[in-house]
This record gives sequence, structure tokens and C-alpha cells, in this order.
Amino acid sequence: MIRQTVLLFGPPGCGKGTQAKRLEKAMRSPHVSTGDMFRDHLSRRSELGLKIEHIMKSGQLVPDAVTNEMVRDRLLRPDAALGVILDGYPRNVVQARWLDLFLRSRGYGVKVVIVIDVPHGELVERIRGRALKENRADDADPAVIEHRLATYTAQSEPCVGFYRGVGVPVQAVSGIGTPDDVESRIKSALSASPA
Ligand code: ADP
Repeated sequence: MIRQTVLLFGPPGCGKGTQAKRLEKAMRSPHVSTGDMFRDHLSRRSELGLKIEHIMKSGQLVPDAVTNEMVRDRLLRPDAALGVILDGYPRNVVQARWLDLFLRSRGYGVKVVIVIDVPHGELVERIRGRALKENRADDADPAVIEHRLATYTAQSEPCVGFYRGVGVPVQAVSGIGTPDDVESRIKSALSASPA
């Protein structure tokens, strides 16, 4: 049984969500996006949604315990048994460690981390453009955008070092170009990583 948990990593606006949806089709593994899951809670006004509303709007991270528990419930669903494409999770080293332990307890780990690189100026432009299309409160405010980008650098980027340290292959791809360009780079990176 091949279990392939692929982690799509990169700053807000780098195109993780777009690429994860494409990979979901190609790999037939479900796309698990913590951002989408939280937005779903917000739109349903669930208990969790009400709790996290101000956190998301201000561009902060939802507390690890809440996030990890939601991810655990998702990964225990039968469709995740053969692995998933993770997008937006883990977002700090505490989450990465937790995921590592959780996956080990299930007998596997992260197969590869794909880091999508996009320069800062381009990220800001993309996130602003997305605000108009998707009506996301956290995309509309320039200060919130900068805060999320700074949080990525301070808290999320160190996950790359964590994965290198535990021997998971990390492949960086450029996120510049059309979604098709980026997809083919990701597919080459995936086929270059050990099975
Ligand atoms: P983006 O990467 O464009 O900022 P996401 O959709 O991945 O957007 O996440 C939106 C928001 O959801 C984040 O700013 C944060 O508040 C929350 N969130 C998503 N994933 C996590 C996570 N793994 N840990 C904590 N908070 C998260």
C-alpha cells in the first residue's frame, strides 16, 4: 500500500490552493486545506467558526491545539487512509512535530515537501487581487496581508528546516508563471522524489 502524504508549502498567495486542487485530481489523494476548513466553519457560523473569526480576520494563526485536533479528525476519515495533499498545514514547528508523531503512529510519514517560491511584491499583488474575487476579509487589508507574510517567515519557514532535519525531501519550485507552468514543475519535483 503506497501512502503519499505530500505537503504543499509556501507563503500566503504562492498558489498552494490552486496547485493542491490540481494535484488532488492527478494523485487521487484528497486535498486537505486548513484555511478552507476554517473558512467553512466561519460560513456555517459553527461554534469553532465563532471562536476563530477574529483570529482569522486579523491574520493570526488559530491556536495549535484547535488546529491539530481538526486535522486529526480529518486525517482519521477513511478517504485519508492512503495519504493526503496538505495545504496550509503545518504552519509552525509545533504543528509539524505533532503531524510527524501522528503520521508515525499510523505507520507512515510525509513523503515530500514542495515549497512554492514567489517574491514578496508579487505575493502582495496576488493577495490583493484575490480579495476582489473571493471576498476574503483577511485578503483586503494591507496590514493584515503584511502580518500574514511576516508570520510565514517567522513561524512557518522554520518547518522547512524541521523536515530537512528528519530526512524528508524538500523540493523548492518557482511559483512564477502560469498555473500550468507551476503544476509541471511540481510534477517533476514529485517524480524526482523517492517513492
Ligand atoms: P493564506 O495561506 O492565503 O494566508 P489560508 O487559507 O491557508 O490562507 O489560511 C487562512 C487563515 O486560516 C490563516 O491566516 C490562519 O488564520 C488560519 N489558518 C490556516 N491554516 C492554519 C494553521 N495550520 N494553523 C493556524 N491557523 C491556520
